[in-house]
Amino acid sequence: MTDLFETRLEDVVGGRTAKKLAAAFEHRTVRDLLWTAPRTLLENGKTSNLIDLVDGESVVVSAKVQSVSSRKMRDKPGHITEIVIGDAALGRVSVTFFDAKPFRARMVNVGDFGVFSGKVSTYNGRRQLVGPRYTLLRADGAIGSAENQLSPEVALLTGAFIPIYAATKDIDAWAIAQSVTLALEHIGGAEDPLPARFRAEHGLMGIVEGMQAVHRPTSYGHWIAGKRRFAWDEALALQFVLARRREANSLIPTMPRPRTPGRLLDAFDQRLPFALTAGQREIGDGIAAELLGPAPMQRLLQGEVGSGKTVVALRAMLQVVDAGGQAALLAPTEVLAAQHLRTIQALMGDLAREGQFGASEHATRIALLTGSQTAGQRRAALLEAASGAAGIVVGTHAVIQENVQFADLALVVVDEQHRFGVEQRDALRAKAGTPPHLLAMTATPIPRPVAMTVFGDLDASTLRELPVGRSPIATSVVPADNAKWVDRTWTRVREEVAAGRQVFVVCPRIGLADGPDTDTLPEDEPDDIDEPDDARPGADGTAKVIRPPLAVLDVAAHLREGPLAGLRLGILHGRLPAGEKDAVMEQVTAGDLDVLVATTVIEVGVDVPNATVMVVMDAHRFGMSQLHQLRGRIGRGAHAGLCLLVTDSQPGTPGRERLDAVAGTSDGFVLAQLDLAQRREGDVLGAAQSGRATTLRFLSILTDEDVISAARLEAQRLVAEDRSLRGAPNLRAHIEHVVREQAAEFLEKT
Ligand code: ADP
Ligand code: MG
Repeated sequence: MTDLFETRLEDVVGGRTAKKLAAAFEHRTVRDLLWTAPRTLLENGKTSNLIDLVDGESVVVSAKVQSVSSRKMRDKPGHITEIVIGDAALGRVSVTFFDAKPFRARMVNVGDFGVFSGKVSTYNGRRQLVGPRYTLLRADGAIGSAENQLSPEVALLTGAFIPIYAATKDIDAWAIAQSVTLALEHIGGAEDPLPARFRAEHGLMGIVEGMQAVHRPTSYGHWIAGKRRFAWDEALALQFVLARRREANSLIPTMPRPRTPGRLLDAFDQRLPFALTAGQREIGDGIAAELLGPAPMQRLLQGEVGSGKTVVALRAMLQVVDAGGQAALLAPTEVLAAQHLRTIQALMGDLAREGQFGASEHATRIALLTGSQTAGQRRAALLEAASGAAGIVVGTHAVIQENVQFADLALVVVDEQHRFGVEQRDALRAKAGTPPHLLAMTATPIPRPVAMTVFGDLDASTLRELPVGRSPIATSVVPADNAKWVDRTWTRVREEVAAGRQVFVVCPRIGLADGPDTDTLPEDEPDDIDEPDDARPGADGTAKVIRPPLAVLDVAAHLREGPLAGLRLGILHGRLPAGEKDAVMEQVTAGDLDVLVATTVIEVGVDVPNATVMVVMDAHRFGMSQLHQLRGRIGRGAHAGLCLLVTDSQPGTPGRERLDAVAGTSDGFVLAQLDLAQRREGDVLGAAQSGRATTLRFLSILTDEDVISAARLEAQRLVAEDRSLRGAPNLRAHIEHVVREQAAEFLEKT
């Protein structure tokens, strides 16, 4: 059967329009075009809000004609026609045409209702549309377009709703609507890849009816129902791929790694200076049982910053070491890898000094593998990993490299899971003889539907309580233009240092003259940063200079000479040589530095219980989850923490609202949800799946939890019944199209 959705657009809408659609949106097939819903619906007869039109924006608006006037141009041949549309409540805009002949004024009447699409500009301080495409519904009920002939758009105007497509300067909303009309005719006889039973069970429209509802709805509810059908298609496709992945992981049996009494883990538990929390114990027991195999563990461990995930992971690592295997711990940065090494060494003491004098009988070794080691250090670490001498290998991405070998890799622990994509996880798994167990940890709470989609091949557990003795953190926003508050900030810093505590100052930029100037992390700057000092002309009419984000080197120099003179101040950022980074972190840990001015390299995992104050400069440049991570670096000891968010973003702006939200709650889950809601979904999926663009058009992985969890069950059922979908080739092809590369590549692999 030929798939009507696969027809090339040039065969349906003509070569010229097809070229434009390809250039503007990369639409090549009927599917590409139809799989893009209208951006919005205009209710027929209802006036758009014209007050908020933005200069330079391409818009489609509907409004009533208020006045029409026409005159001959003075210095050129031709006529200007000015039509004012809108009303007092929703604003007025003038629509201007330059025509050779004065025909226009005769065709447009006061009281006509019209839809206009064009680009907003400003003339004499007034918003206007110059030469837009338009269609009028006359006051007398007749329909006319610019040339007063029946055109495809006229048909659109007769519906209850007018679908408005996202347009570009090369192709306008009407042309897209027209192409969609042709495409809808083309797929009239298409077969539905979703079985009828399935659609009936979940109350889903058929594919043709659904496409009609999405593009030519008869009511708002109709539109929503149409979009829901395709959200289902997408959810099912994603969940099917994830179910296949889960199944494939469980098909190859792994070696059991049972808990062996009287060895490392027992000795470790005995020397642990604190009692495990109930959550640590419970999740730990679950993991211990899963390590018995035969299906390799695939677990995501979520837990607030400081909830004690590392100890849970370390106990799992020790169990596999006791059973004769090795464990690898992967961290997203060198600073964090080095920190993990120190933490683990401190917690294990002589249990980690195999071969050294005074080591415990069952001791093992920990090897460190990072990208910036000397050749000699690296060789030694590689040897320890390959020979099995190192029970635990801690490192960065360097561990994934090809020449790294393990004697018997039994468990892979990935810290800050969201920084690692599926491929990296697979690459690590490939280093083991039998499939290793996987424990992924993240401190960024992931809303359930996102977790089910992005990490749907993992089972999740969550550490809910913080260990006792954790201190509260107070957070305040400090307006940078309030000199008194800023002074007070640095006075507080001095007070804390005088009391023997340490302080972090975080800046968005490093401040080096050349090369990359930020420690780029997938959590990039929010894209709606409101620049208080942007290039808008100041009151005196001169353009203000855009101030670059504050930099570590500049801020450190300023503090050293000014407000924090006399304190022991250090610097940390991603472009310092690795040895220097380690040295700085060791000074901080040893209490030899009072203040550390740093980039977000300290965002994850840095554990300095004596640090009590965190000052974030240009705080509006950070995402909410990132700020939450950052402040998690303080209040880790016996003393209460204080987090100060310094910003020149003004009250009421999105940037300031983000900061107020961070100051207003210490619940990371709430912040993560707010943060995600502000980001584009593609960014969420993209960052989690190592930058791959999402193909989701209808499914919202933030809000469609019901669809996603139902689709997950259906996908599991499908995989159990017919894992390659041999009996449902249409469905298989459909799934491959919906999740393109992901599915195609995966279905081939297995
Ligand atoms: P996470 O990785 O979840 O952010 P960590 O594992 O780094 O948290 O733990 C943070 C700090 O709390 C560490 O200093 C750790 O030794 C300590 N810690 C972990 N579990 C407990 C516990 N049950 N009781 C007291 N302190 C704990
Ligand atoms: Mg940690």
